[in-house]
Amino acid sequence: MNTTLVKKDLYIGGGHVATNDYVPLYSPYNQMKIAEVAEASRADVDQAVEAAEKARLILRKMPAHKRAAILEKIARILDERSEEAAKIIASEAAKPIKFARGEVARTVQTYKFAAEEAKRIGGETIPLDAAPGGENRIAYTIREPVGIVAAITPFNFPMNLVAHKVGPSIAAGNPVILKPAEQTPLSAYFLAEIAEDAGMPAGGLNVVTGKGETVGDALVKDPRIKAVTFTGSPEVGKLIRRNAELKKVTLELGSNSGVIVDQGVDVDKVVKRAVQGAFAFQGQVCISLQRIYVHENIYEEFIKKFTAETQQLRLGDPHDEDTDISAMISKDDVTRSVDWIEEAIKAGAGLASGYSIHGHILSPTVLVNVDPNTKVSCQEVFAPIVMINKVSSVKEAVAYMNDSKYGLQAGVYTNDIGVGLDAVDELEVGGVLINDIPTFRVDHMPYGGIKESGTGREGLKYAIDELSEMKLVIINKN
Ligand code: NAD
Repeated sequence: MNTTLVKKDLYIGGGHVATNDYVPLYSPYNQMKIAEVAEASRADVDQAVEAAEKARLILRKMPAHKRAAILEKIARILDERSEEAAKIIASEAAKPIKFARGEVARTVQTYKFAAEEAKRIGGETIPLDAAPGGENRIAYTIREPVGIVAAITPFNFPMNLVAHKVGPSIAAGNPVILKPAEQTPLSAYFLAEIAEDAGMPAGGLNVVTGKGETVGDALVKDPRIKAVTFTGSPEVGKLIRRNAELKKVTLELGSNSGVIVDQGVDVDKVVKRAVQGAFAFQGQVCISLQRIYVHENIYEEFIKKFTAETQQLRLGDPHDEDTDISAMISKDDVTRSVDWIEEAIKAGAGLASGYSIHGHILSPTVLVNVDPNTKVSCQEVFAPIVMINKVSSVKEAVAYMNDSKYGLQAGVYTNDIGVGLDAVDELEVGGVLINDIPTFRVDHMPYGGIKESGTGREGLKYAIDELSEMKLVIINKN
């Protein structure tokens, strides 16, 4: 698809709906205008909810094999159109094309997993006679669709994180209203096109673009919506939790993820993974590697090798095959990142590599000996910035890792399984990776955080649990 100056209407009830307002969409890389995008009003949101309400019973009654078939077909069409999809992501998000292709390949997987899980939604039998008075009763549970789902998504994985909400919603038999991030509407409209071709019933998937504080807010507060599944910043997540009242809410929020590197490990191998984890998509990944704690015996070697590897990364146009690092999502994010780097340096940090600015590109920046109270350590940087600090033991590093308001995933490299398992016990996170960086996800694994990193889990099976209701059935034979 040529994304140059396309005009995108809302997608509601299986058709394109014009609005009063359209806003320009600019490339984060060269600031060229790439599209005009509908900005929905509260009345448009109302129309989307009505359309979803009409589709609700159709999806609820649709057999699992048919829901699975729609999801399988979405996966197939997306696979066939994968290059087009990758170019959309590169244009609107400035994701380097090789990473954009990786995202599309994962999105195909996510819809395939959703199709498979649609066929496995079941319950359990309960031995009621375990309680006096429960004799001669048969009890079992079933799972029912929750109702209309609002999916509110961030800019950083505009196809795959959308798939993590649309896939399980449809698998569970729920219509969805998707509100994508302001900067990445084109990926969402591309999905709508594919879903329609895949046989999605009208109103099964609706896309309403616009501002979070109007469109997102109207969705979160609408009583006809039964579940809100949100991925984004902790600030907005907390607001959603308050506004959603008794709706089901899944929150996938931010982090300042870290890895611990014990003595005795293969430094070259760790460095290769760690550089990828720190700088993929300019560090704008929720499990981006932001903090590295290295044992003092290998600290100097680690910094030297990490810096050398970082300097191999190529900066440039997201559409170039060789580009590793491109523009950040906005100029404000470049300014904020520079302020945070300066703050860390003023507080005594050393600069091992970086930082220079080229348009909206910030070169990958490596800070060492960072004060844990500075923002590059204790806030989520969401930028190509990583800090490397020295520790005398894994135990000491675990304490630093836990001194965080976030808790998404953490990594520990060690040759001592006992040390690794102690870290598993102690780390306050949703997932621990032994001998890997925290920046690892495949799409069927349970994924989510604790503390300010969120509540609930994604990964198709787990997301389906969040987007369905358990019903108990008891047959009295007395
Ligand atoms: P953001 O919170 O600014 O926006 C996310 C979405 O929320 C957007 O669609 C936005 O329009 C909407 N929104 C804004 N205000 C709203 C309101 N008042 N009510 C309802 N919706 C509203 O996040 P972003 O900048 O697009 O993405 C970056 C953040 O997402 C980072 O914090 C990152 O860690 C997080 N993230 C988390 C995960 C995860 O799985 N844990 C994955 C990716 C990104």
